Amino acid sequence: MTRAAELRRFVHASTGAMLEDLEHFVRIETPSDDRPSLDAGADWVRQWMDRRLGPPVSYRREPGGPHGDTLIVEHAGSGAGTSAEPVCILGHYDTVWPVGTLESMPFDRTGDVLRGPGVFDMKAGLVQAVWALRALDQTGCPRPPVRWVINGDEEIGSPASRRHIEEQCRDAGAVLVFEPSADGAVKTARKGIGTFDVTLTGAEAHAGLDPRAGASAISALAELIQAAHGLADLDSGTSVNVGLVSGGSRHNVTAGSASAGIDVRVATAAEADRIDAALSAWRPSDPRVAVRLEGGWTRPVMARSAGIARLFEQAADIASGLGFGLGETAVGGASDGNFAAALGRPVLDGLGAVGGGAHSRQEHATVSGLTERTVLAAVLISALAAVEEPGPRPLVRR
Ligand SMILES: [Zn+2]
Repeated sequence: MTRAAELRRFVHASTGAMLEDLEHFVRIETPSDDRPSLDAGADWVRQWMDRRLGPPVSYRREPGGPHGDTLIVEHAGSGAGTSAEPVCILGHYDTVWPVGTLESMPFDRTGDVLRGPGVFDMKAGLVQAVWALRALDQTGCPRPPVRWVINGDEEIGSPASRRHIEEQCRDAGAVLVFEPSADGAVKTARKGIGTFDVTLTGAEAHAGLDPRAGASAISALAELIQAAHGLADLDSGTSVNVGLVSGGSRHNVTAGSASAGIDVRVATAAEADRIDAALSAWRPSDPRVAVRLEGGWTRPVMARSAGIARLFEQAADIASGLGFGLGETAVGGASDGNFAAALGRPVLDGLGAVGGGAHSRQEHATVSGLTERTVLAAVLISALAAVEEPGPRPLVRR
């Protein structure tokens, strides 16, 4: 029996236990803004990993302050993979769902379909990753050292965990992100995200008695909205959305202040630079209105580098040997994979659940995807134990 066949047999025989793990995990609600719930989630993840993978060689729990803590867990390599470069596995245990969502959206399995808050984004992905490693260990497959970074603030942009992700990924041979797939496809490019806030300060005056004395911040805001939207270049992948505006105090007072919140998505670093320069240089036609620009790039661009393309080819080859096609796609949403890609690491994102409806009440994952992707991850991780060889040793005969 080939290694892949052995791994597949193990994973299929373990489906019931994987579903039990997933059910436990989903039943611990972990919204990004609820510290006690996040603590309970992180505690459970730690104990669960130990139970399924044995004690790690090192473990750190980095405090998240007001946000969820970050778990950094290292497992030694085994067999021929002991001295290979470490593989980083990224995942998050927080979800967008508030406590109490389970009452109207309970964990449920109907046929192949699993439902529940966070089941797709991305609790099933973490279950797959843990079981991929367990499958390798239980079948005696060689594998590289594995470093997990599991955070509880991904859904709010990873403010506390970003530096830990960057620190842990810096020397990784590959970074595997178990965020959900896009209709089964993995993500080899993600846009960078900029979040900007512009505050305009003019001068208030009686709008009827002394209109010349007023400098309208709202008038400047109208110019800003036009200018910002004019920066979009959809053919180059750059979108700009002024999604928030506010300003003024009364009908009869020239507006002394106004503000706008702007979301920008770019596909290249050059476009990020262009937007930066344009927003910094923008001034309203009335020079009496002062401009304050705040914010910046919360997620750098994840461009499809040669390393990312190679890692995808390797995964797609493995998938085809396992009997299914693996597609790739570029998406507008960002993840922690963006941080790792910006460091020049080969990143494969979207290795997690197959399903859909992220962040909506239609959220669901499939049982068939759970097992299929666990086998894929196991074979891929094992193949990464042999990175020094000229080509990856084929674990699957085609
Ligand atoms: Zn996610």
